[in-house]
Amino acid sequence: MLVVMQNGATADQIDRVVQAIEEMGYAARPMPGAQRTTVGLVGNDGRVDGSRVESLPGVAEIIHVSKPYKQVSREWHAENTVVTIAPGVSFGGSAVQIIAGPCSVESEVQIVSAARAVKAAGATALRGGAFKPRSSPYSFQGLGKQGLELLAFARKETGLPVVTEALDEEGAHLVAEYADCIQIGARNMQNYSLLRAVGRIQKPVLLKRGMAATITDLLLSAEYILAEGNDQVILCERGIRSFDTSTRNLLDLTAIPIVQRLSHLPMIADPSHGTGLRDKVTPMGRAAIAAGADGLMVEVHPNPDRALSDGAQSLYPDQFASLVVELRAIADSIGRSIGTAPGRAKGTAAATGR
Ligand code: PEP
Ligand code: MN
Repeated sequence: MLVVMQNGATADQIDRVVQAIEEMGYAARPMPGAQRTTVGLVGNDGRVDGSRVESLPGVAEIIHVSKPYKQVSREWHAENTVVTIAPGVSFGGSAVQIIAGPCSVESEVQIVSAARAVKAAGATALRGGAFKPRSSPYSFQGLGKQGLELLAFARKETGLPVVTEALDEEGAHLVAEYADCIQIGARNMQNYSLLRAVGRIQKPVLLKRGMAATITDLLLSAEYILAEGNDQVILCERGIRSFDTSTRNLLDLTAIPIVQRLSHLPMIADPSHGTGLRDKVTPMGRAAIAAGADGLMVEVHPNPDRALSDGAQSLYPDQFASLVVELRAIADSIGRSIGTAPGRAKGTAAATGR
């Protein structure tokens, strides 16, 4: 339930609404807006009787949120939420952000050369897994903490903010120390204790759609993060399992406009995991931006043939550079633009503010 206060409602009137909601046994979340304040009621699993609040002074109207996810819905928050992972790199505004880099961090030379190449081509954030969720326990599992240190070094070298995955709660705290955005991968989309943990860490989160998750499942998973007080969530379509084996996954581009209608959170697409095929990444990346995605996540490796993971879907740096040129034209044709990467931090690490 959402309590919309009148334009010009006083702080005392808002406090009375908060108090009434708390007396009813729920939590109240006041949200000051440009025109008026709304007070959200959280903690209910079903319709709440709003009559007690409706008649309080300063209340304009009560809105019952019809969706199972509340704080994630556009009914709750009509305007786009803009998620800023670093100064100038925001998702959900008119600029489209491009997160690029290798599947896994493998070495200093590899991640720094990948970061330099994607930055030169126009990427606005760097990706690279330090903790890898692999289908086989015998596959490369990532460099762990050392991988995070290398990502931080690559950020210092290029200025690109870092997006990297956490697999568990302990890892999430560690990732938060190094990264600008914590990625929760497809396999962990329904790891509810991890979602709650990243909800309590005040860092942006990139939440990828599970491979068998419906759009409602994705939005309910995001709700776990918002319910803990963190609304800095970027959603990502990365393909779902299908009966067709021609591609690794079926990239559901329809999910982009659907999610953008249902939710105020930014929605990006990952055509690398979404197709699993290098030569399909460019056409599907173009299509995702044309469909209105707020960003792309693309795997790029300086030497894909020697990649320790996902080489077959990783672009060569020159392919990525051509993709960005095309994306600029597509963004421009729909009244958007590609974001601008922050400049390289000058001097020592201290200059980066970290
Ligand atoms: C990744 O981005 O490295 C990854 C493992 O993706 P997903 O969780 O979508 O499989
Ligand atoms: Mn990968």
